[in-house]
Amino acid sequence: MNFLEERITKDGVVKEGNVLKVDSFLNHQMDIELFDEMGAEFKRRFANENINKILTIEASGIGIACIAAMHFHVPVVFAKKSQSVNLDGEMYVAEVESFTHKCKNQVIVSKKFLSPDDHVLIIDDFLANGYALQGLISIVHEAGATVEGIGIVVEKGFQIGGQVIRNLGYHLESLAIVESMDPAAGTVKFREQD
Ligand code: 5GP
Repeated sequence: MNFLEERITKDGVVKEGNVLKVDSFLNHQMDIELFDEMGAEFKRRFANENINKILTIEASGIGIACIAAMHFHVPVVFAKKSQSVNLDGEMYVAEVESFTHKCKNQVIVSKKFLSPDDHVLIIDDFLANGYALQGLISIVHEAGATVEGIGIVVEKGFQIGGQVIRNLGYHLESLAIVESMDPAAGTVKFREQD
């Protein structure tokens, strides 16, 4: 078990509806030393990629992306979520369905902060069906920038997102991949990784 799998086993809570709650160290209260270890691990896994920007999505991705960025020495841009936006031609916009909130959000990035010169590492906390990632990927493409890699903290391997993103050819690294979870027993099984 790696350091994150150990922490999920210790402090994660399995909820009904395929939701893993990790709000004591990741999504609400944040364990910054754990984040630092995750940042170092992302740097190790993407050591061969030429990355000059990290892109994430508010709110849970921001803390992780910022600590990871300390290891890459690059700026972080976070996509903003909003129900309504005044489209004035200065923004990249994608529509994303929220797994946890069951609604549609627009995700928005200012054109000032993403350009064809950018080689982007996308970072997010969870990968479930992949909607959030697809939105971020489409924004990077719209900007003419390049997706160099995608770093996820927890992938729920029993949902379709990971397979879809890997089949599209992206270099996707998930620090923990949950193979199955049992809400009655409160247990989590992880996929073996190299
Ligand atoms: P997707 O877009 O891949 O379907 O879902 C990813 C987003 O939904 C993540 O950014 C995360 O905020 C949220 N999410 C999905 N599944 C879970 C989960 O099991 N636990 C938590 N805490 N968030 C989740």
